[in-house]
Amino acid sequence: AAKREGRSIIKVFQPVMLYSRQLRSQMATELRDAIRSDELVLHYQPVVELATNRILGVEVLVRWQHPVRGLIPPDTFIPLAEEIGVIHDLDRWVMSTSLRELARWRRELKLDDDFQLRVNLSAVELKQLDLVDYVRALLRELEVPACSLVVEITETAIVTRGEVEMYSLLSLQQLGVGIEIDDFGTGYSSISYLRELPVSMVKVDRSLLSELNTRPGQLEFVAAILQLIRAAGLEAVFEGIETQEQADQLRALGCNSGQGFFFCHPMAADETAALLAGTRYLGLGEAVDDPEIT
Ligand code: C2E
Ligand code: MG
Ligand code: MG
Ligand code: MG
Repeated sequence: AAKREGRSIIKVFQPVMLYSRQLRSQMATELRDAIRSDELVLHYQPVVELATNRILGVEVLVRWQHPVRGLIPPDTFIPLAEEIGVIHDLDRWVMSTSLRELARWRRELKLDDDFQLRVNLSAVELKQLDLVDYVRALLRELEVPACSLVVEITETAIVTRGEVEMYSLLSLQQLGVGIEIDDFGTGYSSISYLRELPVSMVKVDRSLLSELNTRPGQLEFVAAILQLIRAAGLEAVFEGIETQEQADQLRALGCNSGQGFFFCHPMAADETAALLAGTRYLGLGEAVDDPEIT
């Protein structure tokens, strides 16, 4: 029986599956408590307007500060959270905690309404009938306008187009929340859905950029994807920009915005606040003074 199980574990491969069965069940128990024990931490990574290097907003990325195992990346525990049904609590915790942080930054750092917080939502969340009420109530309580929030949803979560998922997307859009397809280009989905779904932005997966300077024809390929997104009437965002050259190439193609280690790594909340207090622009690895602030 153990052998049969071992085989099926290998088939549905996810990073978390690398752990032994025993460790996994221990981590599951710990993850259930992690939210209550305040072990989850949020990091923020700027999204930048490529033409000006202006910070358009930040994406919130969750980490698990484990008391023994150290800082665990989300790719390791999000699949586990989905599997054991903790993802709902986790996503709501991320949403409310990061919106609270944004509300504070808006007050203390005088961020304007077009500064956007981007929150990743799991596919499971889109199936929750009360998602829109939850978001609406939070925004109202914190006095954050809906346009300052963007939800990022992976294309695999969207393409199934279930009734509840569509209801969630449409209602969020009606509310004024931005909707972005994340990791575009990694699922095996039909491209016609780009024109049919209530979304406003598409974030192209970093795997498409990683081969930009090595694989022949990749620049043309990326240019075509950019055109495709535009032709669908949507805004393109590129993730995983790691070099000056990539930033320049995307800018030359007319791509509006992007994020990546070249501009800024994800940072803790206080570091993010310190950055935003000093500048709204990111330069060649170092902050450029903001003419509006100085
Ligand atoms: P994602 O939404 O596509 O997030 C982008 C990932 O790329 C982040 O990894 C970020 O740290 C990383 N990244 C950013 N710039 C670069 C770069 O220039 N080069 C490289 N190689 N990587 C870069 P991270 O933080 O490990 O997050 C991984 C995934 O975990 C996210 O992918 C998202 O799908 C998921 N995730 C993170 N936070 C949450 C959350 O609060 N809720 C849910 N449901 N999922 C989350
Ligand atoms: Mg994302
Ligand atoms: Mg992404
Ligand atoms: Mg990704």
